[in-house]
Amino acid sequence: MITKGYALKQADGPLEPYSFERHDPGPDDVLVELLYCGICHTDLVVGHNEMGQSNYPLVPGHEMVGRVAAMGDRVQGFSEGEWVAIGCIVDSCRACSPCGEGDEQHCVEGFAMSFASKDRQGRPTFGGYSTHYTIDHRYLLKLPEGLDPASAAPLLCAGITVYTPLKRHGAGKDKKVGILGLGGLGHIAVKMASAMGAHTVMLTSSPDKAEDAAKLGADEAVITSDSDALAAHAGSFDFIINTVSGVHDINTYIPLLKTKGCMALVGAPTQPLPVMMPLLLMADRSLSGSLIGGVADTQEMLEFCAEHKIGADIEMISIEDVNEAWERIERNDVKYRFVIDLASLHGSEAA
Ligand code: NAP
Ligand code: ZN
Repeated sequence: MITKGYALKQADGPLEPYSFERHDPGPDDVLVELLYCGICHTDLVVGHNEMGQSNYPLVPGHEMVGRVAAMGDRVQGFSEGEWVAIGCIVDSCRACSPCGEGDEQHCVEGFAMSFASKDRQGRPTFGGYSTHYTIDHRYLLKLPEGLDPASAAPLLCAGITVYTPLKRHGAGKDKKVGILGLGGLGHIAVKMASAMGAHTVMLTSSPDKAEDAAKLGADEAVITSDSDALAAHAGSFDFIINTVSGVHDINTYIPLLKTKGCMALVGAPTQPLPVMMPLLLMADRSLSGSLIGGVADTQEMLEFCAEHKIGADIEMISIEDVNEAWERIERNDVKYRFVIDLASLHGSEAA
């Protein structure tokens, strides 16, 4: 079916109207009418080919929420009109050990990403800045009741990316958790860590975001340019989630960890960051990476957010404003996530 979308035709953009063919749903597939899509910083990184593997035209978007429009014969557990969600993972081999453990993001054959990737039939995947998506039902998520569909969209990447390390590191009562970088990922991490019962500290370079600490559920906020305020927290964190998108000095933050503390890296600066090894050696501290999360964990995360009434703080935009939104993200000028109201695309003349 012909689908309306917005694509970059080349790495330096801009995003412009682009129509393309989505395959019709096969027996295991669901056709989703997309209604909201969050804008993740990774859309910009991949869109501008900062990883060096992007192909064009490129339709970004991997934080999708919509309704079931049609289903294949073998699909069970979904019904027409139901609210559903699509994240980063739309296929994987389903046979390897990571897939068996629910870590499809680490599929040994490589998972099919919902945008700027290839599906297992070799077709390019076009993302959620579009009106419809065809997806195998095994990768489709249910949107629990009680979640606002628009503010739930960012949970599909930002939410699961921070839920995974929070769970892995046992965020909860008696744990002190730092969230470094208060963008889309960071502000959801604050809400989740606080809901898990951890003592939650925002570490932000933006004084105006520190003012939102109580609203977001943080116990404390530290402005990272204030070295005295940072020093007051030295050696005290069980773990820190580092969501910073740009080049920064992580050696400033490693000393905040207690002995055996860990910094989970989820931000993806495209340049190498130097590490002062003694800061790790002297206190058995560690750095670890974390990539999104598997399908079952993403569903679990959505249930957790529904139970704790967690959604993103969003600024809703029309599709026509998507280029301006990307520029504002580059300038660190969003509180805290843009979401595209795709009704503006459904109703548009996009070619
Ligand atoms: P975002 O909304 O743009 O937020 C990034 C935040 O980092 C900013 O709000 C800012 O926070 C801080 N920051 C940015 N540049 C900085 C710099 N040079 N120095 C210090 N602080 C800086 O981005 P996002 O969508 O949350 O994504 C964050 C990062 O995670 C991106 O690199 C993205 O590609 C990556 N990501 C990774 C995964 C994964 O699976 N690991 C998944 C999704 C996204 P303050 O204003 O508070 O300082
Ligand atoms: Zn993302």
